[in-house]
Amino acid sequence: SKPIVAIVGRPNVGKSTLFNKLIGQRLAIVEDTPGVTRDRLYGNCEWQNHNFLLVDTGGIEPSVDDGILLHMRQQAQLAIDTAQAILFVTDLRAGVTAQDADIANMLMRSGKPVVLVVNKVDSLGAPPLELYDFYSLGLGEPYPVSSVHGHGTGDILEKICEYL
Ligand code: GDP
Ligand code: MG
Repeated sequence: SKPIVAIVGRPNVGKSTLFNKLIGQRLAIVEDTPGVTRDRLYGNCEWQNHNFLLVDTGGIEPSVDDGILLHMRQQAQLAIDTAQAILFVTDLRAGVTAQDADIANMLMRSGKPVVLVVNKVDSLGAPPLELYDFYSLGLGEPYPVSSVHGHGTGDILEKICEYL
């Protein structure tokens, strides 16, 4: 059966926007409004000779409620367990957060191959210096992407397919 690639990350980093860009259809719900629960969504993705199932993990906005953070971690863990490889999405504008570090630790414990995506790098040209902060997550090279414009998506697809 087809390999599964999961898109994992804390809320609002742009997972659903990336999912839509990669599968080329507007299936995932991109939500500007905090507090909205979204389901996991699946889509086929083809890249050169590879064909895999891409999973967008839903999320809820973090709040002071620990239960919501727990839910986010449970969803991420479920996605990690079922996937062959992970696209871990972070947000250049927000920088490296404690929630990113939390998910990075879950990913390292899983031993699954991870491509570290730094999203919202909208301008072309030399990558911003803030990109290099993401090395601190311990997951190797950060790949700059703009999910809105599509910049950098070819590079992450090429890398993820090396793991399938
Ligand atoms: P998710 O919660 O991780 O699924 O994030 P969404 O895909 O719902 O996106 C959250 C917000 O970030 C939305 O307002 C998106 O339009 C915005 N966003 C996503 N990707 C990009 C990007 O590459 N550049 C910019 N500037 N905004 C983005
Ligand atoms: Mg989403």
